[in-house]
Amino acid sequence: MFGMMMQSQLTLTGIMRHAQSNFPNSEIVSVTADNPQHRYTYRDAFTRAAQLANALQKLGAQPGDRIGTLAWNDYRHFELYYATSCSGLVCHTINPRLFPEQIAYIVSHAEDRWLFIDPMFVPLLEALAEQLPGVKGYVVLTDSAHMPDTSLPNAICYETLLESEPTEFAWPELDEQTAAALCYTSGTTGNPKGVLYSHRAMVLHTYGVLMPDVFALQGDEAVLPVVPMFHVNAWSIPYAVPAVGAKLVFPGPKMGCGETLSNLMQREGVTIAAGVPTVWLALLKHLRETNETIPSLNRVVVGGSACPWSIMQEFEEKHGVYTHHAWGMTEMSPLGTYNARIPATVPADEAKALRLKQGRAAFGVEMRIVNDQGQPLPHDGTAFGALQVRGPWVCERYYRAEESALTADGWFDTGDVATIDPQGYLGITDRTKDVIKSGGEWISSIELENFAMTLPGVAEAAVIGVAHEKWAERPLLILVAAPGAQLDPQAVLAAFKGKVASWWIPDDCIVVEELPHTATGKISKKDLRQQFADYQWPEEATA
Ligand code: ADP
Repeated sequence: MFGMMMQSQLTLTGIMRHAQSNFPNSEIVSVTADNPQHRYTYRDAFTRAAQLANALQKLGAQPGDRIGTLAWNDYRHFELYYATSCSGLVCHTINPRLFPEQIAYIVSHAEDRWLFIDPMFVPLLEALAEQLPGVKGYVVLTDSAHMPDTSLPNAICYETLLESEPTEFAWPELDEQTAAALCYTSGTTGNPKGVLYSHRAMVLHTYGVLMPDVFALQGDEAVLPVVPMFHVNAWSIPYAVPAVGAKLVFPGPKMGCGETLSNLMQREGVTIAAGVPTVWLALLKHLRETNETIPSLNRVVVGGSACPWSIMQEFEEKHGVYTHHAWGMTEMSPLGTYNARIPATVPADEAKALRLKQGRAAFGVEMRIVNDQGQPLPHDGTAFGALQVRGPWVCERYYRAEESALTADGWFDTGDVATIDPQGYLGITDRTKDVIKSGGEWISSIELENFAMTLPGVAEAAVIGVAHEKWAERPLLILVAAPGAQLDPQAVLAAFKGKVASWWIPDDCIVVEELPHTATGKISKKDLRQQFADYQWPEEATA
């Protein structure tokens, strides 16, 4: 017997309508390339989204067409999100930090019809345009006063495009399974793969993100996504914030700049911000150097890589800001787990251990760990294996792939290695390809990096497995010193004694000027492994 309730479709258009009806005066504040302080309301944003939807129709966009964006976080990108998805087009956000060949591959693979680009990416696209015959034209996200001279074919100024369009658009009643957005993984191995999000998945994910033990957003808050809108839809913040009517604060091209972030947070009364660990390192450094404070800020969400304890500690002790550790991935929209506030009654050591973990599954996500044979392992906090997930916002197959991306029994293999404890806490120990296999046993590079980051004078730490005659692989620790600090590699290695199992202690430590990072701001282990391909262990370590 079926239930007898309405078959309302879960679409992003529903979020837009809700925000229009209930929070027309909520603000969106942006830093853009052409305006350091743009400010308007949801009413303005959705009116302009309607104008843009009309313009896209005039440009000949057909339902399902992919519209590419190469843009930072600002109000025009927000308008694009809604104008495309809610009119039945697919918003394809592209990471401009990728190598040009990867961008050309992604645009061609997605068959993008139009590209909407920030002015600073005009030269990049001019160099690629010949390789992109399927792109009908380029819309530069600026006004006529700032429109650059360009050789791009069919270059249009965004504000000119919108100018004479009607402010109403007949938004279609979409099926909730309609594709809304497309995002490619960074392709740390092989070609990037496209994840095609449906309206239904995005709406359910939005509910997941908003839950009290997740982002817990409220209407009177101001939210700063420091995670780019080309990185898994800025972790869904552009959908979740309008759903509750809070203020949205966009940092534009200045995301990695501690000073810009601090100024924005202070000026706009930001209460919650989200981003990868590197942006918080930049912000904390700025705050340390200037003695500035951000009284309005009460929590930050950190994900994308393991969050070092030093970040959590500094935020909390110096600024009274709670750090929530989250885990997810492009294929999961991205929310997988979230570390909710640990009650103050939990003893400090226990709380620290829990907070370094990635948190519990958000309602909607199921997780299991399996061994090499695909058999489930116990959730005892000790056994570790390949982490697999399932749920309504998890990718079933990659864009244009013939085959399902799932295991025979319907789970998605995340490529991460993890433990799950009896209370459901996930501990990511590594990516499958980064785990160090020493004498048949596994060593977690993340755990070693976490410890290294607690040592004075360490700014960044990475551990990779390097071939070893006797043990197959052994851990090599690579560090960047904090400005002005001197690191003694032997003293660093000695500090590991008694803190981790003796056979986990890295066999050597090297201090470098900088570590390679990926296009999403993570340490690139792949590049590091290449960099140290010819590394030779010191004599005593080969014993
Ligand atoms: P990419 O795979 O291209 O780097 P994603 O953002 O999809 O881009 O990365 C997802 C991966 O990032 C996860 O599979 C995991 O390995 C890592 N990751 C994300 N959040 C965390 C976290 N809190 N702790 C450790 N690793 C994390």
